[in-house]
Amino acid sequence: MTVLTLEKQYGLYINGKQEQTAETMEVLNKYTQEVAAHISVAQKRHVDEAIKGAKAALKKPFAPYARYEVLMKAAQLLMERCEEFAKVLAIEVGKPIRESRGEIERAAQTLQISAEEAKRIHGEGVPVEAAPGSENRMAFTVRVPVGVIAAITPFNVPVNLVCHKIGPALAAGNSVILKPAEVTSICALMLADILEEAGLPSGRLQVLTGSGAEIGGFLLENKDVNMFTFTGSPKVGELIRSKAGLRKVALELGNNSATIVHKDANIAQAASLVAQKGFNNAGQVCISVQRVYVHEDIYEAFVAVLKEKTETFVIGDPLDEKTDIGPMIRLREAERVEAWVNEAVEQGANVELGGKRNGAIYYPTILTNVNDDMKVCRQEVFGPVVSVALYKEIDEVIAKVNDSDYGLQAGLFTNDLQFAMKAAREIEVGGLIVNDASAYRVDHMPYGGVKNSGNGKEGPKYAIEEMTEERIIVFNL
Ligand code: NAD
Repeated sequence: MTVLTLEKQYGLYINGKQEQTAETMEVLNKYTQEVAAHISVAQKRHVDEAIKGAKAALKKPFAPYARYEVLMKAAQLLMERCEEFAKVLAIEVGKPIRESRGEIERAAQTLQISAEEAKRIHGEGVPVEAAPGSENRMAFTVRVPVGVIAAITPFNVPVNLVCHKIGPALAAGNSVILKPAEVTSICALMLADILEEAGLPSGRLQVLTGSGAEIGGFLLENKDVNMFTFTGSPKVGELIRSKAGLRKVALELGNNSATIVHKDANIAQAASLVAQKGFNNAGQVCISVQRVYVHEDIYEAFVAVLKEKTETFVIGDPLDEKTDIGPMIRLREAERVEAWVNEAVEQGANVELGGKRNGAIYYPTILTNVNDDMKVCRQEVFGPVVSVALYKEIDEVIAKVNDSDYGLQAGLFTNDLQFAMKAAREIEVGGLIVNDASAYRVDHMPYGGVKNSGNGKEGPKYAIEEMTEERIIVFNL
């Protein structure tokens, strides 16, 4: 059983074995800022060895039914170890314990859905005989694995987002080299442990910990990696795309998510959901509510209830059952958010709530009197800051939502069917959530953005389409 203990060193996971390295990196307890453990740092030779092993593993049989059984078993083992994983998340991410348990439950579902999809990967008949001269031919497609997939993942949802990559990749018959975020690598190593126990053949999953830039560089250099699937910041996503050449790349990137609250909305319900989904995981969620546009008729009432709901949140130790909001991932991230809020205030914004920092904790903050060009609106805050602005007209607010480099998801509270239909047609996002905030996701739905929010979809069924090639077989009879 893997337990996160002070000063413990975690090895790389290559070809079913743990490998310790001389060079290590510290993993901090994000609340106390003490060293919780150390991880190994992969060098070029480890990366090449992992890729070689992953490629060799593709030659050994791993039938869809076996993939189903391994992933189902892994989901079960994950739930059996839910409490242990949740504690590691609380320490390693700083995610409150109740929210951490929720992530583990979601991750187990992602593995289960991936297992189910392993049995449903299929091609289709193609009527080639419809073309003159092909009367005696018959054709169909099959979906084949792309091969070795490099999966690079962020810190904020480090178990479920890893499952969203390795679940579908393994279900589709690929091998995966996982490079988790350096600040939250331990839960990924624990997942590898579970998959091994569930019977995953050695080499099908390799976990390389250490510097993202270095390992990323080595993975990009090695032509035996057939595909990159990345979730993280737009800056790194762009770099991966620019260096991947002609290989497949799937990118899940950032957002400055908008939610519209129209004049007919249920104010209490909308404010409660915005509070919850703007401050979950200290706002470090890619679809976290960041920009809220409220109709002028209900603006003041909405801000009052939003403040009231947010004031009830308990801020503090993620391991405490009562805590709703913990620290941010790094002290410098909390300092960045503080600087952005201060800049907005200098530019005329009002702090309705919060606006202060204690170490890596940034207090849940509500800003009003903002404009769309302030950093807190224009860029991705990725912290516990919600900016509320008012609007008068439907066309005006749709234009405001679309005036963004990003387009992952948006929320709209209204029962006005005309507005909802117009928004469905005109808002430029991967997903529009009606009568909820932007941050709604279940794990089998297609999930992914447009514009700088990325390309390609996740959700096991959709990720499998990205992670397989369609091959046509033509018979000449
Ligand atoms: P990040 O881009 O800093 O890091 C993500 C991963 O990339 C880490 O594993 C890191 O080690 C690695 N990395 C860093 N430099 C690299 C390089 N040069 N080459 C290859 N890999 C490299 O992102 P983060 O701070 O961990 O996560 C926050 C970002 O992730 C936010 O922008 C957020 O919106 C985004 N995100 C998006 C989704 C989504 O589904 N769209 C989900 C969660 C997070």
